[in-house]
Order: sequence, then structure tokens, then C-alpha cells
Amino acid sequence: MKNLKIAIQKSGRLNEKSVQLLKNCGLDFENYKSSLITTVGNFPLEILFLRDDDIPGYVEQGIADLGIVGENIIDETESKVEYIKRLGFGKCTLKLAIPKDSTIQDIKDLNGKAIATSYPNILKNFLDEYKINADIRLISGSVEISPGLGLSDAICDIVSTGGTLKSNGLKPFADVKNSEAILVGRKELEGNEVLAELVQRIESVLLAKE
Ligand code: ATP
Ligand code: ZN
Repeated sequence: MKNLKIAIQKSGRLNEKSVQLLKNCGLDFENYKSSLITTVGNFPLEILFLRDDDIPGYVEQGIADLGIVGENIIDETESKVEYIKRLGFGKCTLKLAIPKDSTIQDIKDLNGKAIATSYPNILKNFLDEYKINADIRLISGSVEISPGLGLSDAICDIVSTGGTLKSNGLKPFADVKNSEAILVGRKELEGNEVLAELVQRIESVLLAKE
């Protein structure tokens, strides 16, 4: 059988759980050290270790057959990949947040305001749904400090505990999108036997956890 290639995050919030999931499927391999690609010893699979942002594109282009990545990244990159399985980890919510003393009370109040985010596409789609015209400012990191610096009236960022918001004088205002890690694949994989076997093992692992 031909080897499939699966892309997972090299290091970061999804790495450990992605590796653990594949190991629980009985796959024998080493986590990322310095080699970007590793071959599984007992299953026709190669593992590519990448930055999460690059995973949907690699799968869309067919450089990888499969990927494990957050739904937030799939949506933001607007990649055409097949959703195969929700994996139940890496849960987080993309939220709008505003300064504690802000006069913004309703989503409509965002009209004409500046919103800082690393997720311009998801935010744009959300605002379009409400017919809101806001100035979306793309910031790649530390989005939470931008209202305090006078750079924005609100932010749209991933929140899990809310601690970072609070320490920057912000409060959550509205949920934009829930996200979790997803197993995605290229469109042409339907009927692939290696994939069917892998998915069956993943489903057993997920069921055993419930
Ligand atoms: P990379 O170096 O791979 O680009 P990163 O710094 O962009 O990594 P991480 O912070 O490791 O990304 O987050 C990876 C994914 O984990 C996110 O895209 C999201 O789907 C998920 N996630 C879960 N909880 C959180 C959280 N509290 N903050 C950010 N991301 C979270
Ligand atoms: Zn990233």
C-alpha cells in the first residue's frame, strides 16, 4: 500500500495531543526533534511536522494527504479541504472583546470602529453577516494590547480562559467562532484504504475516551 502523508503541528498547542492521538492509534514514531518528516514504523504513513498556519495549504495542494489543524486556521485560510473527523481537543473560541469601560453595547455599535485581529477573513465574514462596516486592522500577535495603545476600539482573538483579556483591561463581548482540532484531507482521498484504516483507529480511540 502507498504511504499517506499527514501534516501535524511541529510545536505548540496542538502538537502533543496530535502526537498522542496517533500513538494511541498504535502508530510507532518519534515526535518532532529536528527532522521535518518521519516515517511510521508499523503503518504506511509519513508524518510532516509544520507550522499550523501552513497545514491547510499543504493539504489543499496535495503535498500532504491529511492534516490535523484548528478549524480557526482552516476558516481563516479559506482552504478547500475535506473535513474527515472532529477530534475534540484544541478547543477555543474566537471572540470579540472590548475595553472594560467601552461604550460599545451592541454588535451594531461596531459600525465605523477599528478592530484589531489576526483573523481578518473570519472577522470580515462575521461583520458582513451583521452588515457592519468596521476598520479591520491586521496584527499578527499580542492583539490584546492594541486597544490600550489606542490602535483599536475592539479586538477579535482566540480566548480560552479569559485571563489575558482581563489583565489587559478587556472584557469578552461576543463569540465569533468556536474551534477545535479537525482531521482534514485532500478531496481525492475518498475510498483510500489506508485512510479508512486510520479513521477507524481514530474513532476507536475517541470512543474509548468518552
Ligand atoms: P505555529 O508555530 O504552529 O504557527 P501558533 O503559535 O500559531 O503555532 P498555537 O498557539 O500553538 O499556534 O495554537 C495552535 C492552535 O491551537 C490554534 O490555532 C487553535 O486552534 C488552538 N488553540 C486552543 N486553545 C488556544 C488558545 N488558548 N490560544 C490560542 N490557540 C488555541
Ligand atoms: Zn500559527
